[in-house]
Amino acid sequence: MPTTFLDLGVSPDLNERLRELGFTRPFPIQELTLTDSLAGNDVSAEAPTGSGKTLAFALPVAMSVGRGTPGRPRALLLAPTRELASQTAETLAPLLEVTGGRAATFYGGTSINRDLQRLKGRIDVVVATPGRLEDLIDRGALALGDVDLVVLDEADRMADMGFLPAVKRLLDATSPDRRTLLFSATLDGDVEVLIRRYQVDPVTHRFATPEQDRADVRHVFWPAERPERRRLTGRILSRSGTAIVFTRTKHGADRLAKQLRQDGVSTAAIHGNRSQRQREQALARFSRGEVQALIATDVAARGIHVDDVDLVLHYDRPATEKDYVHRSGRTGRAGALGLVVSMVAEEEADEHHRMQHQLAMAPGMHDLELDLLDAEVLPEPTPPADDRRGGRGAGPGSGQRSRPGGNTQRRGGGQGRGRNTGGKGNGRGGNSSSSRNNGSSTRGSGGGARGADGNARTRARGGHARTR
Ligand code: ADP
Ligand code: MG
Repeated sequence: MPTTFLDLGVSPDLNERLRELGFTRPFPIQELTLTDSLAGNDVSAEAPTGSGKTLAFALPVAMSVGRGTPGRPRALLLAPTRELASQTAETLAPLLEVTGGRAATFYGGTSINRDLQRLKGRIDVVVATPGRLEDLIDRGALALGDVDLVVLDEADRMADMGFLPAVKRLLDATSPDRRTLLFSATLDGDVEVLIRRYQVDPVTHRFATPEQDRADVRHVFWPAERPERRRLTGRILSRSGTAIVFTRTKHGADRLAKQLRQDGVSTAAIHGNRSQRQREQALARFSRGEVQALIATDVAARGIHVDDVDLVLHYDRPATEKDYVHRSGRTGRAGALGLVVSMVAEEEADEHHRMQHQLAMAPGMHDLELDLLDAEVLPEPTPPADDRRGGRGAGPGSGQRSRPGGNTQRRGGGQGRGRNTGGKGNGRGGNSSSSRNNGSSTRGSGGGARGADGNARTRARGGHARTR
């Protein structure tokens, strides 16, 4: 019998609500963590994007949050971006309805007066980005002294974005009896420091889908000089379904969105210069399928939850291989098929090669006709000269790795956005491990070649569960 939410300790009425919401079976990271987090332990969990972390922490919050008073919440959920905070709040809301908890969400770009107003009523759970939360505390509108349950979501990203000092100040302001749940794509580096300093005897769980689970995401590196990119993008989009196109700058996103509209593609831009309302609208229109392509910058796109994006297009090169993995993680989520295309100018080839090496992907560029994007077998990339002798990087086995068995995961090219509802949890039987407080001895393989985070198929030194 497969494990159910009930088996893991979820209450019958919440289980019923989950069923209504379409969550019939726990995803692996939920299965791994819920027993411990519902039992009151500190938990640190490492799992890739799209693995279902939100529900993994929303359930314990909904089930165990105490009653707050005006300005004094009992639980705090910290997220790096506004989008992520509001999506977390959306997951939490129907669960709190069942348990009678009250939540409020605070993030920048919205009226602080409205926040101040809301803080006059009872609040049990605060979902927030660090910046706005500190603002509200500084104004004396909010105090964290009664907070005895904290969730840090996307802890690695918060560290990347420079929020660690704020996160530490906020944690220091919560109750000393607090317990802390930490979720992250990686648990090393700065995150490990947070774990050591703020968690007590934490149970560590790691989950990563094995390589072959990621075979349903295809990564294509395509030679494309800048002047060709707009036209090529239009052509690719004309034969794909929904897409997120990444640009480096906000201005670039706006310009490309406009140009593509002129070319007949429906687009919406999402970046930091747009108001919260504009972003939400863009996201909603995209989710409803009213626009085909979302043109996004990295920060704005982080944590966006739109299922079944058919295509991720790196119009501008990602700044780091980590960004590549994060961006690419927008497609192939929750078992859906996905295609990732990188546009590479000649002078960017070295940079891409380095990244491919870091991510243990088959090296080189694809020399493709557009038609082949929909073909069953994706030809191997042409390796750069220094790899042809088969020395390093992917080595001779690379063909196998990049398209196992030349396989059958055909993308139904060009059609709409079939919702991938059935069988979401299937085939995700990844590898996992748990350990209680191995402290510094539970650490990842380090360096850039980690597969844990995402969809870039990686050699994944063991692919998973690296508990040493
Ligand atoms: P993460 O935070 O790990 O990136 P999310 O929490 O956003 O992942 O979950 C990814 C997607 O999977 C969401 O669309 C979510 O609704 C869906 N999902 C999560 N848990 C389940 C479940 N048990 N059954 C079905 N779908 C789920
Ligand atoms: Mg998440």
